Amino acid sequence: MIILKFGGTSVGTPEAIVKTVDIIIEASEQKRVAVVVSAFGGVTDALIQIAKAAAAGQPYTEALQKIIRRHCEVWQALLPQKTSSESTIEPLLTELQDIITGISLIREVSPKTLDLVTSFGERLSASIIAQVITARGTHAEYLDARSVVVTDHQFTRALVQKEITYENIQKYFASHPNLQVITGFIGATPNQATTTLGRGGSDYSASLFGAALGAGEIQIWTDVDGVLTADPRKVPDAFLVESLSYEEAMELAHFGAKVIYPPTMVPALESHIPVRIKNTFHREVPGTLINSVPTVSEQPIKGISSMKNIALLLVSGGGMVGISGIAERLFASLAKEQINVILITQASSEYSICLAIERSQAERAKEVIEAAFALELQSGLLNPIKVEDRVAIIAVVGNGMREKPGSAGRLFQTLGKHHINIMAIAQGSSELNISAVIREADEERAIRVLHDSFFFPRKKILHLFVIGTGLIGGALLEQIKNQWAALKEDQTITLRIIGIMNSQGMILNPNGIDLSAWKQTLSAEGLSSSLSTMIETIRSLNLPSSVLVDCTASEEIAAKYEEILKCGISIVTPNKKANSGSLARYQTLKKTAKETGTWFLYQTTVGGGLPIISTLRDLIASGDRITSIEGVLSGTLSWLFHSFTAGTSFGALVKKAKDQGYTEPDPRDDLSGMDVARKLLVLAREAGLQMELSDIQVESLVPEACKHAASIEKFWQCLPQADHVFEERRKNSTMQGKKLCYLASLKNSVATVRLEMVGPEHPCYNLSGTDNLIAFTTDRYREQPLIIRGPGAGAEVTAAGVLADIIRLAKYS
Ligand code: ADP
Ligand code: ASP
Ligand code: MG
Repeated sequence: MIILKFGGTSVGTPEAIVKTVDIIIEASEQKRVAVVVSAFGGVTDALIQIAKAAAAGQPYTEALQKIIRRHCEVWQALLPQKTSSESTIEPLLTELQDIITGISLIREVSPKTLDLVTSFGERLSASIIAQVITARGTHAEYLDARSVVVTDHQFTRALVQKEITYENIQKYFASHPNLQVITGFIGATPNQATTTLGRGGSDYSASLFGAALGAGEIQIWTDVDGVLTADPRKVPDAFLVESLSYEEAMELAHFGAKVIYPPTMVPALESHIPVRIKNTFHREVPGTLINSVPTVSEQPIKGISSMKNIALLLVSGGGMVGISGIAERLFASLAKEQINVILITQASSEYSICLAIERSQAERAKEVIEAAFALELQSGLLNPIKVEDRVAIIAVVGNGMREKPGSAGRLFQTLGKHHINIMAIAQGSSELNISAVIREADEERAIRVLHDSFFFPRKKILHLFVIGTGLIGGALLEQIKNQWAALKEDQTITLRIIGIMNSQGMILNPNGIDLSAWKQTLSAEGLSSSLSTMIETIRSLNLPSSVLVDCTASEEIAAKYEEILKCGISIVTPNKKANSGSLARYQTLKKTAKETGTWFLYQTTVGGGLPIISTLRDLIASGDRITSIEGVLSGTLSWLFHSFTAGTSFGALVKKAKDQGYTEPDPRDDLSGMDVARKLLVLAREAGLQMELSDIQVESLVPEACKHAASIEKFWQCLPQADHVFEERRKNSTMQGKKLCYLASLKNSVATVRLEMVGPEHPCYNLSGTDNLIAFTTDRYREQPLIIRGPGAGAEVTAAGVLADIIRLAKYS
């Protein structure tokens, strides 16, 4: 016998039910099986809401009709040949409606009534599924668990009386050999009042039936591949855990891994029945096997789980020191009120005890403790009870922690490194789990960083927000997409694009945007573009290692860099606006990055993809002293002057450069020399000089007459007038055996950008294409300068340079 349990996620839609029924029929052809089902996904929540609304005199009819319609639609979709009069669900739906009407009339819903209301979810679902299976040719019977599962009177979380329940189940199955489709989650008191076993309790029902019938395996079919290393909705890198011990599974579940309900393990463990978690939608995946065999794994831990909506209560005072029985009284008072304590820590001084409980019970717990210790509080032996609201618990779980020291250290270190404050910590005496209480706002970031640190200790995950998808931004996204496979293989770096923004709109996805379809997603689902919303989202998502990649030339964005760095977000950019703006801003940004532990990388602001800035930094960092920097820093001007040979006119050459796409839309931006001056300024500052743009002597190549041309057309018309000036300079240099070259130079703290003549001995004499060239003369490179040469512009190489900065950040941050 095998028990197959299908959760709400497996019976949420007609398509899912078809898959579920396929699995049941196939299994029943091989072995005797019994099936336990949950309510359709979301139905239990909806029923609770409806009952509460009815009791509060609020509107509920629409929600109730929706539930009714949903069941009828599934019925009609899967059992079309049945007429509605044959429908067994109709009486159930009518009864449900009557009960809700009753609640709305008496304006009250007790836990007992609530259990009766929620029981309809499982009763409807099991009843429909039994008929669908029968309609497919395998005779199946509906079993209402209330006729066999006997519980106490703790409505909404009733305790099962196992002995009598097992006996009932065995008797029932002995006389009912057909396939049973059983309602999960529900039971009844000895006097037939409907009870439920706690939210998520269908797993427990399956385990009970398994234990009673001596099943060979209990299979929990759900919508994930098994138990994963963390909740996949919170940690996109979570992966399948192949096997767990019952204890490990119980700990993970206790601290929030909803995939299994913690008590489920108890009957299975008692009867040594393996539990397997499987995915209804990926049947071929083997899933997770939970049994008593302790498994060894490379990592010390098996998984990380977390719980929100927790409150921390601090009971402290001198009256607790050395006095026995305080803890006992404390827990007894809470237990009496059925307040469930999730975690306890006591300082070794015995001066304080910290308790974590569900937030909804915090007020009540405080009152209970205050009543139990009224005298001690009055006399000052105990301090007023403190409640910390809005906290979360994260727990790392695994058998391996027993043998391997250092897990607690790693947990502290990782959280500390990411500025996540630990408010309390507890380690189970079995060393199976370490749990920490943190601020609720840090919960998601905490599990992500812990997941990385425990499972991918050598891997760095960066969360990227890309602004600007023009030539460079577009090429960058394309390169990241193409590198995807290689980066995935790389055990050290993962790049995840969380946000993309351009002037048309923006998209955000905390789990990563699919780069193969980002354009379609942007046009179909994009929000309107807003820099402030983007920054606010980056801040509130609070993802570890967030990086803003600014691929624009926008001053508006550059103006926000300081604010962005202050939020702990690094910046990578080819935008020169910030680092070649005022010295004060440059210095503030550098200082802010240092103080906040972030990075501000802008390699591509000089020489596109060429490693100019990084080389300069390496030289300085290794103790070298720069004596001069000289070179050609404009691909456009590089091309213009080495193409300027006898018989060509300068004006025509500029036009040709424009036509070939080498110039800015307005070539005056290239010819003015200001772009080169800004690049030189960046290098000067990088070399340690406190320089402003106005300190650089710049020779503009825009002829005086054309400077004020009203339009580009006018500029083209007047440009040839200056041809003879350039021609004269060319002839002059040729006569001296030299060539013209637009050089940037920094020597003895003097920075100049101008057209010069260079002889064959000069490294820039033989430039070709749109090559840039930079020569560093230093103490070490005294005789021969250190030269970097190559294409200094172009979307592809610049994007590659931006990517190199991103990778650098991942490697060294
Ligand atoms: P069902 O309706 O099948 O009972 P649940 O919603 O109760 O399904 O549980 C499955 C969900 O549990 C998954 O969709 C997943 O989001 C969540 N979950 C939380 N933690 C984990 C984990 N460690 N491994 C797998 N799933 C988890
Ligand atoms: N339907 C119940 C719930 O949603 C029980 C279950 O799904 O396990 O809590
Ligand atoms: Mg569940």
